[in-house]
Amino acid sequence: MLVNMKEILDDAAKKKYAIPCINTPNEETVRAVIGAAEELGVPIIIDHAQVHDSLIPIERIGPIMLKYAREAKVPVCVHLDHGSDYTFLMRAIRVGFPSIMYDCSALPFEENVRRVKDFVEIAHKLGITVEAELGIMASASPEDTHGDVDPEKRALTNADIRKFFTDPDEAARFADETGCDALAVCFGTMHGIYLEEPELDIERVKVLRAKVRQDCNIVMHGASGVPFDQDILAIDAGCSKINYYSYMAKATTGFVGDKIKETEGKIAYHELQEAAYEFMKGYAKNVISTFRNGK
Ligand SMILES: [Zn+2]
Repeated sequence: MLVNMKEILDDAAKKKYAIPCINTPNEETVRAVIGAAEELGVPIIIDHAQVHDSLIPIERIGPIMLKYAREAKVPVCVHLDHGSDYTFLMRAIRVGFPSIMYDCSALPFEENVRRVKDFVEIAHKLGITVEAELGIMASASPEDTHGDVDPEKRALTNADIRKFFTDPDEAARFADETGCDALAVCFGTMHGIYLEEPELDIERVKVLRAKVRQDCNIVMHGASGVPFDQDILAIDAGCSKINYYSYMAKATTGFVGDKIKETEGKIAYHELQEAAYEFMKGYAKNVISTFRNGK
């Protein structure tokens, strides 16, 4: 069943668990993530990142994501991850995405507010939910960068990341003025592969959750690579949507490499692909169950 973000996140926020949002840049990953949610009987969010569009365009992967979502036994939200240019948002709407992230976090606060507010007005009329971002999410490498982040702001160390943390008062104002349904905030995570163990500012999440409009969900990006016990603290503090991908992709590459070695390269490609699908499904099940936080 295809749903927008709000239809599933409000329950998560109320009961203090989080729903993972996982990138699905090919059909095996779509099947694996939705299959994992179906086996557990819980809702899930799958997303296509604008940065993955050079890998596979939204017009090609979008309809596949939507078809699997519609046919799923559990609610599945199909979401656009880090849409940073307007034309791209329009393409996502045309393909039929019920949920869109408009990332203007690289712009000054007032400009971020203005753009997101204008977009929310259109999106809500179409029944589309909107996520925005405030603060700047660092990335480990230029390829991991979402949005038009200035290379100077591609922080790598925990000390660098701290400079771009989300201010709770600004976040409250942002949510009120834009009417966004979810807000990605910065409190110590980054995209891609971590160079040192992340230090999360959990107290900041608690303050953000207390100050931001209650029906605006707090989102954590860059969760893969963060120890699960830290993720749980962030969930308890109020994060209800958690973006997770890089480490699942990395683990799958490791699995595929081992499989090739184990079979001395004799495994057929389609069998390798199917084995990778099973591996990802197991991996996704673990992530989903962990983020359910016992709920
Ligand atoms: Zn992100």
